[in-house]
Amino acid sequence: MSAPRLVLATHNKGKLRELRDLLRGQVPGLDVDTEVVDAPSVGAPDVAETGVTFAENSLLKAKAVAKATGLVAIADDSGLAVDVLGGAPGIFSARWAGRHGDDEANLRLLLAQLADISEEHRGAAFVCAAALALPGEHASTVVEYGQLEGTLLREPRGAHGFGYDPILVPKGMDRSCAELSREEKNAISHRGQAFRALLPAIVEALG
Ligand code: IMP
Repeated sequence: MSAPRLVLATHNKGKLRELRDLLRGQVPGLDVDTEVVDAPSVGAPDVAETGVTFAENSLLKAKAVAKATGLVAIADDSGLAVDVLGGAPGIFSARWAGRHGDDEANLRLLLAQLADISEEHRGAAFVCAAALALPGEHASTVVEYGQLEGTLLREPRGAHGFGYDPILVPKGMDRSCAELSREEKNAISHRGQAFRALLPAIVEALG
């Protein structure tokens, strides 16, 4: 089996699958299924998200993992930015209701906070920063961004996806993100956009 060449700083298998799908056939000689791996498979450390922007957090993670593993590393940080909340929950999206990763509680709290907000003011966007870091002391980094704009529903709809997917209807659509197939969501998602924008840097780093 080939040794890992690119590590995605995450424990989230969905994100790894999305990155592998994106890279398939794009980098000559790269076997995405064995050479593109997640953090646990190479014993990379968990990195605390102590930054105050998506970009800072993605860079913190990518740099720490590149340093620890000696591999090219990619990390992303994402969240939901609600217009009437001035961009919140933003970097606090995963722990908006207090406990990290409690998607159901986060979503319920947000819906309660927006209960009195009329349809025309329910705009929001999923936002993502994706960073690439090369190993080595003074190695270069690249950060790219993606954004998926839409409107927030009053009640969750759909069974796919995770997080706030059941309440965001992308602009120009009538289904929530949780009613889209994985392929439909990846094609328009904030993370898909940011990963695709990183593609030239990934090709160069692995070339
Ligand atoms: P992280 O980038 O994995 O730390 O995600 C932060 C949080 O943002 C997640 O726990 C979700 O609450 C929210 N989030 C990020 N991306 C998405 C998405 O594609 N759908 C729904 N929620 C998301």
